[in-house]
This record gives sequence, structure tokens and C-alpha cells, in this order.
Amino acid sequence: MAKKKKSSKKVKNIKLVAEKNEEAMVEGILEGSPDGIGVVIVRLECGCKKMAAVAKDGEPASKLIMYRDQAESICDKCKKDNGDYMRVTEAFIHWSKPEPSDSVKERINAKVLGNAPAVN
Ligand SMILES: [Zn+2]
Repeated sequence: MAKKKKSSKKVKNIKLVAEKNEEAMVEGILEGSPDGIGVVIVRLECGCKKMAAVAKDGEPASKLIMYRDQAESICDKCKKDNGDYMRVTEAFIHWSKPEPSDSVKERINAKVLGNAPAVN
């Protein structure tokens, strides 16, 4: 009577993946960031997004890019507060292939996303 046990890790493992239109940005960022092993994708409640490549030590590997889908520029709110963490709805890392090991991912996740309150 083995019940299927799902590993009950504390970490909430909602699988967030890049949307199609985000993927294009991700590709572009990775192309321009040879040290990047993934791209941090931050979605804001207003619909704007922040992205930056991350290196294997968890340091930024590109400059931060802010953009808004189908818009010439980010919204006025973001222009004012630069996409404040308070307004982040989702933040995750899109790993480039081949993906790093889970332990590396965890370490970088903690370093990069650890202090973003909305990640819970
Ligand atoms: Zn915005």
C-alpha cells in the first residue's frame, strides 16, 4: 500500500516557464552574455518585465533590461520606481541548456531571488 509520496520540500515548486514572447528576449540576452547560464525573469503587476542574465556564481552577467510587451517603453509607474520589488508578481530563472545541476540552481535561486518578497 505504497502511497505515492510527493517530496514535500518547503520550497514552493511552482514551475514557472518563460512565455513565448519572453523566450525571444531570453535568447537575445544569453547571446549577448557569454557568462550567463540563465536569465532572471521578473514579472511586475503592471505588465512590465525585468530580465538580466545571471552567471554561475549568481552574479549578474548582463545589465538589467526592463521592457513591456507590445509597448515602446515601460509604464509610468516603472519609470518612477524602477519596477519596485513590492510590485513583483513572479520571479524565476530561466536556465539555458544544458541546465546546471539542482544544487547549483538552488544556490543561485537563493542568491538572486532570495530577497524578493513576491517569490513565495
Ligand atoms: Zn510597469
